[in-house]
Amino acid sequence: MGHPTGSGPATLRLEIRPAPPETGPRPEMRSLLCCLSAAFALVSCQVPSSVSRRAASPLPGEIKVSLPPLVAGLEAPTWGQAPPPAPQPEGWTVPVRDTYTQVRTSRKVVAITFDDGPHGENTPRLLDMLKARNIKATFYVVGNMVKYNPHLLARMIAEGHEIGNHTVKHNMLDRMSDEALLAELRAAHDQIVEACGVAPRTMRPPGGAIKKDQKALMLRELGYPTIMWSVDPLDWKRPGPSVVASRLINGAAPGGILLVHDLHKPTVDAMPETFDRLLAMGYEFVTVTELIALDEPEPEPEPKKEEAETVDDGQ
Ligand SMILES: [Zn+2]
Repeated sequence: MGHPTGSGPATLRLEIRPAPPETGPRPEMRSLLCCLSAAFALVSCQVPSSVSRRAASPLPGEIKVSLPPLVAGLEAPTWGQAPPPAPQPEGWTVPVRDTYTQVRTSRKVVAITFDDGPHGENTPRLLDMLKARNIKATFYVVGNMVKYNPHLLARMIAEGHEIGNHTVKHNMLDRMSDEALLAELRAAHDQIVEACGVAPRTMRPPGGAIKKDQKALMLRELGYPTIMWSVDPLDWKRPGPSVVASRLINGAAPGGILLVHDLHKPTVDAMPETFDRLLAMGYEFVTVTELIALDEPEPEPEPKKEEAETVDDGQ
């Protein structure tokens, strides 16, 4: 039986297919264009960020086109965006590092810190000096001193000062196991809270002796950044009040942390001159946590300067 040419309309409908729309390229051309545009998009991803940023900033009057991601789930490029913020330990509302010797700030601020107290005679005298000048300080107290004068911690808090953790027994932490270190700091923490009702937010290691991984541990487990110092007048060697004062005054710089000990009478004797000179120089005294909140991010590295165009005119 021959081909049923010219047979019924049902057969005819099967043979006639709708014509492809004439508005776009033919299928084989469309797939070629698809490949080309995908390849172009991939190449675009690999151009240096400076070029890409320039291309992405439309000039006035230009239309900015935002393209969907190439692949579902592929994040948009992050060129030019800030790095992810530092982890924020519990209790902190600002990014915090695991250690500070000073902070980066353009403001003329310093934090003065008094270690190893409270002392029954020197500390109240110091608190009077601070109050007379409306200066706020930070006290790194030792648990074994707190137990003799817990009322002084309540006074410190009432007068706007800050209290930090300087351990119970003032032993060197760098020789301790992680468990012993945490137990020592937790015991001191509890003593401070019991004495004044306010939890310490930072710690200072006795003698400055601390290991890098211990700093990370304390921040993670206790929320304590480790507070070192930028100025150490070696007041515990008792060089005399005027020497202590001049070392502090000459060492002060914006964002600095000053280290002294309210355990020693000559140190407290050096404070009126230290305070009055620094105030006259325009310094503002802040607590350690206030200082941390003023820490400014590292400036972005200077972009490489393009080689200057030189015109060699042959002369
Ligand atoms: Zn100490």
